[in-house]
Amino acid sequence: MNKVQDVKNAETLLVALAGDILLRESRIRKSGSWCYFCADEDSLARCGCQAPESLGCVGQRVCRDCSAAHRVLAAHLKRMFAAPIVDRSSSVRAKLFSQLHGAADELAEKRGEPMEGSLHFYLAQACPFDDEKPEFKGKIFHAFERSKFADFQGLAKELARETDEELKLKIARWFSSIR
Ligand SMILES: [Zn+2]
Ligand SMILES: [Zn+2]
Repeated sequence: MNKVQDVKNAETLLVALAGDILLRESRIRKSGSWCYFCADEDSLARCGCQAPESLGCVGQRVCRDCSAAHRVLAAHLKRMFAAPIVDRSSSVRAKLFSQLHGAADELAEKRGEPMEGSLHFYLAQACPFDDEKPEFKGKIFHAFERSKFADFQGLAKELARETDEELKLKIARWFSSIR
């Protein structure tokens, strides 16, 4: 009898949890008394990052964690857009682009999301070697918009991992060069 009751309680709990998750998901990228990107309801304010057009936070309420993620990504985009077009493997623009693309790719894989319509799917339409500045910027801007991207906290984490690996490579190269 108790067991049956336990199962029933667990079921009620699971249904409630699933309801919460669904409600939260239904609020993502919709304006309201929650974070526009993750639907969290705490510490909301204007984002104030440096790339509001690209990252889509113009006029939206954003939580502290998503805002922190936006700052990391905005700084990355700013460096990437400022870097000149260089048709070489040492291109700073191409390196920053490949880190961004790699982070988006890795995140989608971890979330089990399909390639079609994803952020990295649209990012791949930009070419860091050929695109003139306005074209390049426009494609990156559209990639975030068209994929309706919202998991900026996840993306910032993946980007940190990508840039960390780049740093490790540099250090390894430096050590082998001083020998
Ligand atoms: Zn948020
Ligand atoms: Zn922002």
